[in-house]
Amino acid sequence: MPEFKDLSVAYFSMEIGIMPDIPTYSGGLGVLAGDTLRSCADMNIPVMGITLLYKKGYFKQDIDSHGNQVESEVEWDPYAFLQAMPQEAEVSIEGRRVRIKAWLYNLVGSAGQINPIIFLDTDVPGNEDYDKKITHHLYGHDDKYRLAQEIVLGIGGVRMLESMGCTGIKKYHMNEGHSALLALELYNRLSGQKYPIDGVRKMCVFTTHTPVPAGHDQFPKELAEQMLGNMLEGKVRKEAFYNDKLNMTYLGLRFSEFVNGVAKKHGEVSRTMFPGYHIESITNGVHSFYWTAEPMRKLFNQYLPGWENDPFNLRYILGVPKEEIWSAHQKSKEALIRLVNRQYKAGMSREIFTIGFARRAATYKRGDMLFSDVDRLLKIAEKCKGIQIIYAGKAHPKDAQGKELIKRIIAKMKEVGHKIKVCYLKNYDMGIAKLLVSGVDIWLNTPQRPQEASGTSGMKAAHNGVLHFSVLDGWWLEGHIENVTGWSIGVHPEVSKENIHEEDVKDMYNKLEYIIIPRFYDERDKWVEMMKHAIAINGSFFNTHRMVQQYVSNAYFE
Ligand SMILES: *Cc1c(COP(=O)(O)O)cnc(C)c1O
Repeated sequence: MPEFKDLSVAYFSMEIGIMPDIPTYSGGLGVLAGDTLRSCADMNIPVMGITLLYKKGYFKQDIDSHGNQVESEVEWDPYAFLQAMPQEAEVSIEGRRVRIKAWLYNLVGSAGQINPIIFLDTDVPGNEDYDKKITHHLYGHDDKYRLAQEIVLGIGGVRMLESMGCTGIKKYHMNEGHSALLALELYNRLSGQKYPIDGVRKMCVFTTHTPVPAGHDQFPKELAEQMLGNMLEGKVRKEAFYNDKLNMTYLGLRFSEFVNGVAKKHGEVSRTMFPGYHIESITNGVHSFYWTAEPMRKLFNQYLPGWENDPFNLRYILGVPKEEIWSAHQKSKEALIRLVNRQYKAGMSREIFTIGFARRAATYKRGDMLFSDVDRLLKIAEKCKGIQIIYAGKAHPKDAQGKELIKRIIAKMKEVGHKIKVCYLKNYDMGIAKLLVSGVDIWLNTPQRPQEASGTSGMKAAHNGVLHFSVLDGWWLEGHIENVTGWSIGVHPEVSKENIHEEDVKDMYNKLEYIIIPRFYDERDKWVEMMKHAIAINGSFFNTHRMVQQYVSNAYFE
């Protein structure tokens, strides 16, 4: 059992992804949370995680023969992975008392540090039916349901920590605004003081994750009053609302001494979006060991001992023989190809140039850009020894446009299928992500600038020597060196241009045809040299060990 009283940072996140079998995450935000907590444990930093249990997960994705996404509930057994805890907490929602139970996962670091992750659960005897379901579905149902979840996470979370005896918490880190009600709870506790807000600000750290205004949670004042009741009475009332809305981003900004975006560019964009606040940036990372596939791990172990706990060592990959890097990559590629051939009858080969693309099917990510000009793509494939394309990604169940996007991609795949081997993997999760980011040859990303706050899958690819081919946005603005760590698509965001989408498309095809594919097939030495640079320059930096060090020195224990 971890020592709850010794924990000094509480990391709150709507989703936390620690492994594919615990389906309490949907995508990048949750995976980042899991990687962050894993790095904290490895580095002996006493940080605990708080999230919700989601007994029915996010959703399981199937795709029918017409390319329609078919959704079903995830069935999983918390008892198989988590420990039920005796402590309880209680919140008030619409005047009803809602009991909260906790489940514990002990995250054990590489040197034995035990950091707990707490999963809050309202499916408890005595609660009303509506309340039992609050912690069932990640990102499900309506605004009211979401607010109920955020009450449980933010307010219930703080109360649960108290009931567990976590008396040493110095910082409450809000990973995105979903948990920002914790600040109101802390405020109410300090309301006897002259300036309670100063006390709260000293304790709070807020990380914002999206440059898209619609991505920021806010609730109508009436709904907030109905749900939160007397939580909003007294001194706190004048602090809680912004433009007559309960705006979670505003709460995070207002109540936190340290606020950051998740890449340099995202910090800049956030400062423009929220003038008057001091917003820093700490660029995201991924957990190096977790996201490095087994064949590459073996190679790193042999040549870069200690890399898993000190990813700076990845820099020294530059001295490792090229053949060994290529051969490790081919093993990872084989594992992926075996899966797509067995499960999808894709008929792919490990000798053929393979493009990977997997993300949330949100329209700004332009998932169908690769198929903008099918004739051009077919011509490129004819000219070389072949192209294979592997996709994956879920659309949110309520995102009709995202579902259309998947359908369009699958239709285009059929259109090119006679010349290009293609495959759309269903139910994208951390397991599939790991196979993909290590098993393809290039990792494609096509967001509309500047909407990609950071992106992390390209960092996972870099750890595996998989070259990134992406629009210059998010982390790639920092990691990109043309022809060295990968390739850009289109112009730099500072350059303003007409027809930017068309320019991006043209540049993507031109680079594939004239630079990337010829290098893959005809200049293998140069290709592997680039793989080394991706690992050395980007793997060694874009990892959560480095990122956590920055949170520790800039935000947690300044
Ligand atoms: C890493 C990861 C993501 C986030 O990657 P992006 O680059 O932001 O798209 C999303 N989903 C899963 C399952 C992941 O493993």
